[in-house]
Amino acid sequence: MRLLIVEDERKTGEYLKQGLTEAGFVVDVCHSGDEGLNLATHQPYDLLVLDIMLPGMNGYALLEALRKRGDTTPVLLLSARDLVEDRVKGLELGADDYLVKPFSFSELLARVRTLLRRGRTLDSAEIQVADMHIDFLKRRVTRAGQRIDLTAKEFALLELLVRRKSEVLPRSLIASQVWDMNFDSDTNVVEVAIRRLRSKIDDPSELKLIRTVRGMGYVLEDPQSS
Ligand code: CA
Repeated sequence: MRLLIVEDERKTGEYLKQGLTEAGFVVDVCHSGDEGLNLATHQPYDLLVLDIMLPGMNGYALLEALRKRGDTTPVLLLSARDLVEDRVKGLELGADDYLVKPFSFSELLARVRTLLRRGRTLDSAEIQVADMHIDFLKRRVTRAGQRIDLTAKEFALLELLVRRKSEVLPRSLIASQVWDMNFDSDTNVVEVAIRRLRSKIDDPSELKLIRTVRGMGYVLEDPQSS
């Protein structure tokens, strides 16, 4: 597994490189967005760790450039500030996770491992979350063995939430992915659809899998495993 760290604070970059190398990864480090884009263009990476505040092209711009050309490499953003707007902006541009400085190395390592694991489950034909099982080929959903009938849109919404499990998805991102609406549109349609999906998936069960994160969006996860 080969990782790229783009971080202009050299001490932080070296510290992360050393830790991740000891954890068994092959690690490249560079110190500007332009260098990062150049490296990511010529070398396939399994994951990028991207500082937001960089000289020249910043982390957001680098992320946007990668996603625009269809590069889906997982990206973990590092931010110096914990603001909801920054987080949402990062997710909307296609980041997979977000970590606020200062963080502990063990937390970074845990996030990196989760993202790499998720990368491998993104294309799975079947996914299990708690007692919910989804077969994407048969488009069949069950909870505790009970079949749940969903409309095409409800299934698409559930698929998005499940494939990006444990990740808070902004309403605007859900709107653009499931309905192909841009994020200036009325996102009330997302709330209505989530309510319908919950009534089928969560209402019959004690264990609620879909959670609302105030001011951010929605996340699907097994509350007993996190
Ligand atoms: Ca920086």
